[in-house]
Order: sequence, then C-alpha cells, then structure tokens
Amino acid sequence: MTMAVCIKCGEEKFGAWTPCSKCDFMPETDEEMAKSVILTDHHMPPESLKQVSALIKTGGEFEYPPDFLADWMAQDFESVQNQTARGCGGDLSCMLILAIPAVIGIVSLVWLVIALIEYFTV
Ligand SMILES: [Zn+2]
Repeated sequence: MTMAVCIKCGEEKFGAWTPCSKCDFMPETDEEMAKSVILTDHHMPPESLKQVSALIKTGGEFEYPPDFLADWMAQDFESVQNQTARGCGGDLSCMLILAIPAVIGIVSLVWLVIALIEYFTV
C-alpha cells in the first residue's frame, strides 16, 4: 500500500493515482500525476507527508521540486513524440527522415520549372 496525500485537499489516501475519498479529486493531467507521485511515501518520509497534508489542508501551497515535474513530463512526452515524429529534438536520423519529402519537393519543383522553360522556349 502506498501512502499518499491528495494534492487538492491534503487528505491522506492510499495510492498516488486514486480518487480522493474526501474531495473526489483524481489526478488526470501529467502535472497532476507527477505531483501526486511526489506526495507518496515512495518519495517522502511519512512525517513529511503529514506535514504536507497539514499544509495543504490549511490552504498552504506545497513547493513541488520543479526538476522532478520537468523530468516526469519530458519522459511522458518523449515516447509519444518518438511515435508521431513530432519534433526531432536534435535526433539526426529523425531530421533526415523529415528532410526526404522536403528534398523530393524541391527536386520536383526544379524539374517543373525546367520543363516549363523548355516548353516556352522551344
Ligand atoms: Zn482530496
């Protein structure tokens, strides 16, 4: 069992990605899921979790480590990006694949221009 804290109301719950028994909040976005993972006994000692729980319950804002959130979201989007080839991120083979249609486009454009010139000059 994973001890966790609801990132919305601060209630203690079991499991990071479970609905909160008090406010019914369920983490859905990458950011909410990453924050929920931080507020578990995998990443924090139980005493700290209790402090965070008390902090959120009294309306305080817990400072999530920005590096952890960024890493988490980068990981998640990387797998999606690799499959859809959206944004190569410095990957040379990926850029070459994207460059091929561009080169074919330019070559056929040049060929078309040459054909037109010949058509009008003959
Ligand atoms: Zn809650």
